[in-house]
Amino acid sequence: MTVAPERPASTAAASLPLTGADEIRFAHIEAQLDALLPRGGTPVHDSVVIAGGKGITAWTLAARLARSEQFAGKVVVAGEPVTETRQIANGCSMRGTSADWLSYAVARPQAELIRRIAGPAFAGQPVATRQLTAMARPGIDGQWEIGPAAAWQGGRRGSNRPVMYGGRNSRMAGAMREMLDAGAIVDVDEPIRSLDDARALAPGRKPLFVNLTKNPKLFGGSAPPIKRVTLAWQCALRAGSGGLRHPLTGTTAFAPLVYRDGAVNVGYFTPFADPLSPDATWYGLMVRPVRSGPEKIDKAREVAALREEVLGIAEAVGLEPVDLEETCFGGLAPAPAFGAPKRSAPGTLELRRLATPGAIAYYADGILGGAIGGVVAAEALIRGHDPHDAVVKALKPIRWFNDLWWFETARIPKLVDLAIGTSRLTTRIAMAYPHSYSLNHWASRA
Ligand SMILES: Cc1cc2nc3c(=O)[nH]c(=O)nc-3n(C[C@H](O)[C@H](O)[C@H](O)COP(=O)(O)OP(=O)(O)OC[C@H]3O[C@@H](n4cnc5c(N)ncnc54)[C@H](O)[C@@H]3O)c2cc1C
Repeated sequence: MTVAPERPASTAAASLPLTGADEIRFAHIEAQLDALLPRGGTPVHDSVVIAGGKGITAWTLAARLARSEQFAGKVVVAGEPVTETRQIANGCSMRGTSADWLSYAVARPQAELIRRIAGPAFAGQPVATRQLTAMARPGIDGQWEIGPAAAWQGGRRGSNRPVMYGGRNSRMAGAMREMLDAGAIVDVDEPIRSLDDARALAPGRKPLFVNLTKNPKLFGGSAPPIKRVTLAWQCALRAGSGGLRHPLTGTTAFAPLVYRDGAVNVGYFTPFADPLSPDATWYGLMVRPVRSGPEKIDKAREVAALREEVLGIAEAVGLEPVDLEETCFGGLAPAPAFGAPKRSAPGTLELRRLATPGAIAYYADGILGGAIGGVVAAEALIRGHDPHDAVVKALKPIRWFNDLWWFETARIPKLVDLAIGTSRLTTRIAMAYPHSYSLNHWASRA
């Protein structure tokens, strides 16, 4: 068993003071936690062992526990370390609300989190304050055409709150790792392969074992058959020599929709920064919802079609790829079954399953699930509540919004194409619920 040496503190950013905006954000989170988890209970567990996926969720949970009296020094995070490369695998769109919960977990300013994600050389912040959507179609000449575009959040001028930040996922995880109290956790670089492995690492007598690996059976849980998936392709982008084209502006997140073969594919183009790709100032993603198991899907064909969509739409809005072969990522992600997640076995928490609020890559809510799930699980442990129930309850609205989006794009795609393809007015009406309505689940509190 190797215990990883303590990582040196990053030189990317010095610690910044908390601002008034951070205080508003933290007070709002504390009010939500108090409503969910009344104080005064005694912790049932005395230590926590987190198995793998050293990503945002793991570090968020560890960070909040590490700064508690009850669990400082009693948290083990075990799994292969994440190597940061220029490839933008996994989620790159971090909602403002996610940033609130992540910075709350480490009790550090949001500006510091974003600076560590964007890197010291990036001017300003990679942030959008409004969101637009439109249908996109390939024209007869091969050039993509963008239909009438309307704002569904932030209106014409943008919100005064950050709505969406863009960065590389492995850098976000790295930033959380750098900002937590490293002296209060044990970071083990070898993966946990069984409950016995986890038991051997427990620093207390009543540990909770948290599963964040991609193996749902690690601690004896079950894995229901996969009946729906999303496919995705994304790459880093920058403004081309002609500059941004309508409907993009420097602070717009644009969600183009493509109606093809019985589904609406969902796109996302948003300001982005990555210290390993300093030329990149945008990234683009297309995602396809599919109502069948992975075995029936021609993955290579689907991913290639999504690639064409990203590159075609990018060109139409004045963007060009940055070192495509190095930065791009395409893949298939199984989506969880509908309905409330199954109960975790006693002494374990299936946090990966609980914190995935629905179809993946598809509504910028995976990081949100990890951020809220990590903080809520930690607070439940500290305050003596059942973390499973607390996470399920906290993420119920997020799961509901994701399910509705699935219904719209996979079940009534023709109607979506008609409503959003017709005019700005019909787009605004179609996007009113749940998309515009749920602004407070997207934008930072302040
Ligand atoms: C293509 C794709 C796009 C997504 N887009 C969004 C989005 O825009 N917004 C959003 O909120 N959520 C998105 N998600 C989901 C989001 O990435 C996760 O829900 C979120 O990061 C929480 O998981 P995690 O970081 O805790 O851990 P894990 O997913 O377990 O990841 C652990 C670590 O391993 C790295 N990693 C995982 N898989 C790979 C791989 N195949 N290659 C290299 N490194 C890997 C991750 O970067 C991370 O640092 C997307 C997922 C995928 C697959």
